[in-house]
Amino acid sequence: MPRACKVIGVVTLTLMGAMAALAADPAGVAAPPPVPVPEPSELALRWYRTGILVWIVGLVWGIAVPAVIFASGLSARLVALARRLSNHFFFVTAVYALLYTAVAFVLGLPFDWYATFLRPHAYGLSGQTEGKWISDALVSWALEGGVAAALLWVPYLLLRRSPRRWWLWLSLLAIPFICFVNVVEPVWVAPLYNHFGRMKDASLERRILALAERAGIEGGRVFEVDKSVDTKTVNAYVNGLGATQRIVLWDTLLARLAPDEVLAVMAHEMGHYVLDHVLLWIPVFFLGLLVTLYAVHRTAPPILRRLGARSHAAALSDLASLPLVLVLVQVYGFLLGPLGYAFSRHLEHEADRFALEITRDNHALASAFVKLQSSNLSNPWPAPWLVWLESTHPPLGERIEFANQYRPWESGAPLRYARHFRDGQSGP
Ligand SMILES: [Zn+2]
Repeated sequence: MPRACKVIGVVTLTLMGAMAALAADPAGVAAPPPVPVPEPSELALRWYRTGILVWIVGLVWGIAVPAVIFASGLSARLVALARRLSNHFFFVTAVYALLYTAVAFVLGLPFDWYATFLRPHAYGLSGQTEGKWISDALVSWALEGGVAAALLWVPYLLLRRSPRRWWLWLSLLAIPFICFVNVVEPVWVAPLYNHFGRMKDASLERRILALAERAGIEGGRVFEVDKSVDTKTVNAYVNGLGATQRIVLWDTLLARLAPDEVLAVMAHEMGHYVLDHVLLWIPVFFLGLLVTLYAVHRTAPPILRRLGARSHAAALSDLASLPLVLVLVQVYGFLLGPLGYAFSRHLEHEADRFALEITRDNHALASAFVKLQSSNLSNPWPAPWLVWLESTHPPLGERIEFANQYRPWESGAPLRYARHFRDGQSGP
């Protein structure tokens, strides 16, 4: 599944998966030779191996925080604290949401600090200052707390009014909400963290806009973001929906890749854009949420009966049950994850195919992937079980090999996406 917040369904289709140099100019008479998949460096393998451990600790920590808040009775005490201020339902849910997100934020801090600040610095992958990390963390907490305070009454009102079908109504209501979040995310949320502007390299921008025009994308949809303040890794992505849909290139990617490689990466992002991949995620999120909430509906009551005395939450409709719901959502989300990740890898593969068909520049895409591998300390051949459990993208080794060998135009075979090219032709 794309990164970003799965719970509220923000879709960000990136070039690379986890926060995971051989420039070659393809210009020339003879086709350049295939690009070999480089062996990962010692440092990359260490990043990969320790990354598995960090991933497991993150999963456990993410479940342990709400589990402790629930089972210790702290959640019930937070509800009681909110009730002391007022007994009005909406007020109590809003104050409880603020208190809960504050406690969860503090309990999550040690892991977040290690995983997203200390660790990438230790591997030379980040030049982010402490101040930027802290301000980003506070912005995230304020957003989370604000959204939770504004909306937490919705599921709890549904639980009271429709105790047997709340999971269905909530999943249905989530569709317009997810659409709204995706529309506003690039214009209201992303600028809280970084600066977005037009591309600085005007001649490269002209080439990108010419390619975008062939893919039927208006010019104003391409942005450069100053991710160099946060990371030394490279990436690009598509997000937004409808009027706000856009392609964003990290400035770190523009600094490391040759122009033809940037163009190949752009073509991949254009594939996501033109093939409506953001839109395709919405029914997938709906189905995932429906199954998850139904499972919560069936399994939370027996747990509440067992732990009710200790947690002081008697029923699912009791506000103090929230952390239990969050634990179960994460457990079922983890179990459903492989389906979402397989779907994501399929979309990424098709975006790679689109990029090759519109540019016919196999060498540029393959060498761009090689640079991504070295810049992001990626392992080109991660363990299959890990790919299955948590990879949004196919392994880079597979992507490089596909970029080398996919050339249907050489044998006159039909192209899958030629109908999306304005001139009906692919190639430069
Ligand atoms: Zn992608």
